[in-house]
Amino acid sequence: MGIKKVGTKSQTIIEKIFFLDFMKGLSTTIKHLFKRTITVTFPYEILEPTIRFRGVHGLRNVDGTEADDFMSWIKKLKIKPPEKGETRCIACKFCQAACPVPELFTIKAEKLNVPEDHPHHGLKILAVFDMDLSKCMFCGLCTQACPTDCIIHTDIYDLSSYTRRNWVLNKEMLSQIADDFIARRGKEKFDEKSKWREDQTVWPLHEEDLKIRAKLWDGNIPQLGPNYYDQSDKTTN
Ligand code: SF4
Ligand code: SF4
Repeated sequence: MGIKKVGTKSQTIIEKIFFLDFMKGLSTTIKHLFKRTITVTFPYEILEPTIRFRGVHGLRNVDGTEADDFMSWIKKLKIKPPEKGETRCIACKFCQAACPVPELFTIKAEKLNVPEDHPHHGLKILAVFDMDLSKCMFCGLCTQACPTDCIIHTDIYDLSSYTRRNWVLNKEMLSQIADDFIARRGKEKFDEKSKWREDQTVWPLHEEDLKIRAKLWDGNIPQLGPNYYDQSDKTTN
């Protein structure tokens, strides 16, 4: 039984003499020789993503552009009022509650060890804020949940590393990443009150979403599962 050729057309004598198929291929190659190159030689050249890009996270510090309700959150969570340059994070864990992979966060607040007559007696500071970005899907839900506009996405996308340990970023690293991003592109992303510009929000916020979020934010620390909240850690209550 012979093999039936499907979808092939034998060349005409003219096509054979003038190598027409070859010439067609060559013309495509020549056309592309004069087009703008869209590839870059990473990591020597780095493309700058659009400002809405959801890259490596950063933790913003206090810089005078906080929203009007920032201090009320500080009081509500009994956090020591931060100085300029200190973190905006109030250890509320709303980012962790919103995250589909909550175990990637380790967030702990610690009571200050000061005498009873000290003005900061009974107040807390953020002690640990680690993120294991090897587990992150860069969905942006954590940034949307943060009441103090502290956790943000930056435009950094290179997480290559020889060890997985390097994907765990602590609060100092995250602060440095945010500082660098704000200095470079802060004005493109945020308005003068640290709010995302309308066209920059990660997910569109509908009225119903805002109501749900307001309820979540109303002083309740959500407990969404075994990984979310360490029962032995009462420091954020
Ligand atoms: S981007 Fe998504 S997966 Fe990553 S930490 Fe935020 S909420 Fe979690
Ligand atoms: S939601 Fe914002 S303020 Fe609260 S723990 Fe996360 S980063 Fe800190």
